[in-house]
Amino acid sequence: MTTLDSPRDLAGPPAPEDPAALVARLRAAYTSGRTRPLAWRHAQLAALKRMLLEREEEFTAAVVEDLGRPPFEAWVADIRATVREIEDLQKHLEAWVAPRRQKVAALFRPGKASIVVEPLGVALVIGPWNYPVQLLACPLAAALGAGNAVLLKPSEVAPATSRAFARWVPEYLDPAAVAVVEGGVPETTALLEQRFDHVFYTGNGAVGRIVATAAARHLTPVTLELGGKSPVIVAKDANLQQAASRIAFSRFLNSGQTCVASDHVYVHRDVEEELLSLLAAEVRKRYGSDPRTSGDFGRMVNRHHTERVKRLLDAGGFEVVVGGEVDVEQRYVAPTVVRHVAGDAALMGEEIFGPVLPVLAFDDLTEVTDAITAGDKPLALYVFTASQETVDQVVATTSSGGVCVNDALTHLLVSTLPFGGVGESGHGSYHGRWGIETFSHHRAVYQRPSWLKDLPLLNPPYGRLKQRTA
Ligand code: NAD
Repeated sequence: MTTLDSPRDLAGPPAPEDPAALVARLRAAYTSGRTRPLAWRHAQLAALKRMLLEREEEFTAAVVEDLGRPPFEAWVADIRATVREIEDLQKHLEAWVAPRRQKVAALFRPGKASIVVEPLGVALVIGPWNYPVQLLACPLAAALGAGNAVLLKPSEVAPATSRAFARWVPEYLDPAAVAVVEGGVPETTALLEQRFDHVFYTGNGAVGRIVATAAARHLTPVTLELGGKSPVIVAKDANLQQAASRIAFSRFLNSGQTCVASDHVYVHRDVEEELLSLLAAEVRKRYGSDPRTSGDFGRMVNRHHTERVKRLLDAGGFEVVVGGEVDVEQRYVAPTVVRHVAGDAALMGEEIFGPVLPVLAFDDLTEVTDAITAGDKPLALYVFTASQETVDQVVATTSSGGVCVNDALTHLLVSTLPFGGVGESGHGSYHGRWGIETFSHHRAVYQRPSWLKDLPLLNPPYGRLKQRTA
């Protein structure tokens, strides 16, 4: 026999709130001033952390269900990484939002100048499916830390995680100032018709354009955390074992569905063979001789993305070193390394976003930096080398959201660094202090003493001053 716990069960789930009414409700909470005090912000950050820790199993299971990810990978990259980000905000919040005294030039003395870091208002955070907890909750934490009301839109492509947010956010966070709207394109489109004070979008560039266009109608600033093809350069003097291990980690984590994954590798021709055999050995070491049976290798998020990667492989234009198998029914793409890649191979035409790694040989570093510069600015750029000169040359002659030397992915864990793209890989940034900056207005406040007399020269009639400019 089933029992009904509350009148809500009798009525079924509550009807979704009208977007205009919902945003008006959040705006009223914001304008009431309730989100501004540091005590409120700290309470929200603590509650968000508590939600992730007390509901850790549920959120981890949701990520595993949505992505077929190994549970440890789901926990460490989504739950643990987010808790770490929240703790960083908790530790530094006072310092990061404190007014910043500025120097004042002699002409403007006596007087005080300061930058007041104030919240923007109501922020919309639109998350993607690939790290569905981290990429929604980290911007949420930054927006709350900065004192905003927040509307969250989790990705419909990760429905279990979306449900978990919709279930728990209203219980842990202040429901007057934080809300979750579930849904896909129609729901997001309806939300984007509303006026927000900031829109923070993570996902692909095509939708990024839709989001930016919708926000522009209200002159709303946007942060676009997009993707792209993040290249790796392996120089002749690199520690090849280290490079192979770290490239394999970044490419095959989450079955390659990571925005800062190593998309393709440029390796110096003299060490190409050695790197390829080390990469093949890494695949065996990590996932055994049949990765399909490994509990440590994930799956593609859905059939659509499995078929997309299969099409890239079916188009050919390369030689397989290891892997290559696809099972669409099982959403499985084997960890794959390919070489002898044609310039016009489909694999080189778009972000792969799957566990396939093209390796291209080069003779001269400038060939590589020219190729990177000729393409879209990537989100990340990885360089493996023992030479500072090589690092300096790459940094000076290319552009990318971030650079990581002799490692991959870990730069985004360094919370003193901004994380974000440039050009096609997005604009704006977050993580640590940079998240607070993104969700704040830097208000210029200049204060003069009331006893100060006006300079007669600056006021009309201009008299002699006018004659000087004639
Ligand atoms: P997705 O399909 O989950 O879409 C992202 C969000 O956009 C979702 O909330 C979705 O509902 C919304 N959306 C989709 N279509 C829309 C439309 N027509 N109008 C309005 N909203 C819409 O995720 P995705 O785009 O497949 O994510 C993968 C991409 O995101 C990759 O390119 C990846 O590199 C990039 N990414 C970037 C970062 C980063 O931090 N820079 C992180 C993760 C992923």
